[in-house]
Amino acid sequence: MDLGIKGKRALVCASSKGLGRGCAEALAEAGCDLVLNARGTDALQATAEQMRAHGVSVTAIAADITSPEGRALVLAAAGPVDILITNAGGPAPGMWHDWTEADFLKALGANMLTPIALMTALLPGMIERKWGRVVNITSQSVKAPIPQLGLSNAARTGLTGYVAGTARQVAPFGVTINNLLPGIHDTDRAIALDSGVMAAEGISMDEARRQRAATIPARRYGTSAEFGAACAFLCSRHAGFIVGQNILLDGGATNATL
Ligand code: NAP
Repeated sequence: MDLGIKGKRALVCASSKGLGRGCAEALAEAGCDLVLNARGTDALQATAEQMRAHGVSVTAIAADITSPEGRALVLAAAGPVDILITNAGGPAPGMWHDWTEADFLKALGANMLTPIALMTALLPGMIERKWGRVVNITSQSVKAPIPQLGLSNAARTGLTGYVAGTARQVAPFGVTINNLLPGIHDTDRAIALDSGVMAAEGISMDEARRQRAATIPARRYGTSAEFGAACAFLCSRHAGFIVGQNILLDGGATNATL
């Protein structure tokens, strides 16, 4: 399918690895010029080089997207953007009685206020040009809480509430905002989460993965390529009627009718 977005300019945050990288690759395959971002330079430069093989222009900005200074650098380099994919690392797991106000402020900053700041900066240009796409990478935990990820549950649910209203305010201008909700995907984040299970339960990494996969109807982890393909479709010209939705990519793990 021709996604109809060849030549569009896409900013993909936190995209040197994992789900962000999957989104960047699918958008590059669709012919989008890319602005990539991550904190570390090595993986970022390597990813940028690989994306250039798709024949698109790629700008790579090493910066912490969750800091005001980092966002300013990325936004200055990006210029006018047609497609915004928001993403950043997720908060660490833990227990409700250990989280301090500072922990909550950090999580809210990274996973709620950062995407909101990026939308605040870029939506006006999209509205003016009468076309735009925003996809926020959130989490399955928005639909069904993951108790040990309370910081993530809280921050991402706040973002979801913001998107629900704002998506309807910008839709009249040809701009859509939607959220993609990953369940477990085979990335460094999954390795970090499984390492925690491994340590807590005294089991091997293979066993931690096997146990987790057994709870998923698809009986496996998702891939970044699958995730990226869904993201690129939401950014396509065919997806203009999909507004303010929360789309689970979890292999059926969330046991719900709707
Ligand atoms: P990942 O494999 O660990 O990749 C994270 C990417 O984001 C890397 O490129 C990393 O590069 C970059 N990054 C992290 N923090 C950043 C920051 N502050 N500023 C700029 N770049 C940053 O993670 P992932 O699995 O793709 O997860 C992406 C998001 O989805 C996370 O919020 C995660 O919590 C959420 N999620 C993931 C899963 C899953 O199973 N994978 C499930 C549910 C939700 P640098 O380290 O060099 O900055």
